[in-house]
Amino acid sequence: DQTASDTIDSQGVRVRFGAGMRHRIRAEVERLNCRRALVLSTPQQSEAALEIAELLGPLAAGVYGKAAMHTPVSVSKDAAAHARSVDADCLVAIGGGSTTGLGKAIALRTGLPQIVIPTTYAGSEATPILGQTEDGVKTTLSDPAVLPEVILYDPELVRSLPVGMTVTSGLNAMAHAAEALYATDRTAQTTAQAIEGLQAFADGLPRVIRTPDDLEARMQTLRGAWLCGTVLGRVGMALHHKLCHTLGGSFDLPHADTHAIILPHAIAYNARAVPHLLQPVCDIFGDENAGLALYRFAKRVDAPLALKSLGLKEADLDRATELATQKPYPNPQPVTARDIRALLQAAWAGDAPV
Ligand code: NAD
Repeated sequence: DQTASDTIDSQGVRVRFGAGMRHRIRAEVERLNCRRALVLSTPQQSEAALEIAELLGPLAAGVYGKAAMHTPVSVSKDAAAHARSVDADCLVAIGGGSTTGLGKAIALRTGLPQIVIPTTYAGSEATPILGQTEDGVKTTLSDPAVLPEVILYDPELVRSLPVGMTVTSGLNAMAHAAEALYATDRTAQTTAQAIEGLQAFADGLPRVIRTPDDLEARMQTLRGAWLCGTVLGRVGMALHHKLCHTLGGSFDLPHADTHAIILPHAIAYNARAVPHLLQPVCDIFGDENAGLALYRFAKRVDAPLALKSLGLKEADLDRATELATQKPYPNPQPVTARDIRALLQAAWAGDAPV
């Protein structure tokens, strides 16, 4: 039902929210005029994938459970061949950014439509962006062909996300919104969505940490994830995402944790140049400085604060600085090696942003 109150048409993408929404999967596949859905997951979420396959009944073309971090091209090729061999006519990805990435990678190679059932706050389901790795090199493309057709947000599925990942994944989502506030191609609409997304996490994240089973708060944070993912797909990102890309790609640091640690530092860095654009962060989190506001929020929700806790060596900071400042890119505050080195030092030690 296109006009249902739990359904949004977001520029042609069908987005649905509701506790138990996964139970509608069969109707959603039929709505796409499909009959053979291949269910995708990581090995860790095989049970969730099997539940979806059961709900699909005769419309299931099986489960492909080998989604992996960083979307390795070898896995994507294998999965696309598998999709063809079972005659799949659509994909149902259940999981976080890694599983969504696999769905996008198969769609890119086969043109199959995708339904995504997100179980983290990463937000990849709302973007036409695909990051892939081959021979240790990560590349990113943006192509409308990889944008999923349908997103089903079911808060019951996020209950199982461990508290630590709930926190880092939430901060990962907030980072999309924070950088959208100063994106050069922002619009009134993306700014409003970014503010709403940040507000959802400011309210909802402390609640889901206190009570992981609070479905209303889980729904609020999922809505926040959708808003933050949407702006990530619509405007260009800057320093924060660049630093996380470098640290994740070159030093193999975990995606969501890295985002959580860097966020207050990158925002403090840019608040020097565009404090007025980051004022919504101060208003939402109640502080005079946007970077400090996010640092205090991260502390409050018990987020990791130090890159050294992820295993990064202090001796790697010079190389990280070099990699992050090699190619120029637009950023509100000029990116200089000296300032980035200082930023990374504070983030490495877990100090408040400089
Ligand atoms: P993830 O998908 O790698 O998930 C981490 C682990 O948690 C996996 O084992 C997963 O199976 C498990 N998991 C996920 N949800 C769970 C749940 N509810 N209960 C129990 N276990 C659960 O992590 P992520 O942070 O969601 O995604 C990170 C990846 O997504 C990165 O590769 C990143 O580059 C990509 N990403 C892409 C975009 C984009 O727009 N292309 C946006 C954000 C992230």
